[in-house]
Amino acid sequence: MAQLDKTFPPTNDCSMCILSPPKMVDVARHPNVIVHTLTEVTGITGDVGDFTLSAVRHPRYVDENACNGCGDCTDICPVEVYNTFDAGVGVRKAIYKPHPQVVPNITIRDAVHCIDCGLCYDICGKDAILREEKEQEVTLHVASVVIATGYRTFDAEKKTTFGYLRHPDVITSLEFERLINASGPPAGR
Ligand code: SF4
Ligand code: SF4
Repeated sequence: MAQLDKTFPPTNDCSMCILSPPKMVDVARHPNVIVHTLTEVTGITGDVGDFTLSAVRHPRYVDENACNGCGDCTDICPVEVYNTFDAGVGVRKAIYKPHPQVVPNITIRDAVHCIDCGLCYDICGKDAILREEKEQEVTLHVASVVIATGYRTFDAEKKTTFGYLRHPDVITSLEFERLINASGPPAGR
């Protein structure tokens, strides 16, 4: 939903306006909620009322407690790569926020594309950028589990009769959403 432009029911508000302040921010601030970002559940044992989840927390390469989200590192980073959030319509840096309203409002360093030029380490006034960080095993004890799978978009490349990637005007619905979105790469133009 965060990637969509407007959603209908019933007011045609921007999706992010519906999602971000009343949902993402409230959840992050709720005293009884702990948000585990970049964390992938690898196993569930137990039963209703007493589940044990094993999970892996992937490295952010940015200290969550030190980063203030100022964005100086993103501005100075010379690397630009395909931006998954914008469905490839735009690019992002090797150290970046996936989108402007992200929760928590801090950056992540993409160690695969980072060329380790060192510019972001030097500019960060909080010493928040980590050169090394390992995956961490996480164990969680919970009473209930809600599974929200999300979705994967249709792979338009597989249906060659549509001419996707052969004709520039053939685009996917998600690419269209990012194009018309006021906070998307062409600012809605
Ligand atoms: S890592 Fe440092 S420079 Fe980058 S957003 Fe966080 S505080 Fe700012
Ligand atoms: S060290 Fe990596 S993330 Fe930092 S500015 Fe250089 S390329 Fe970008």
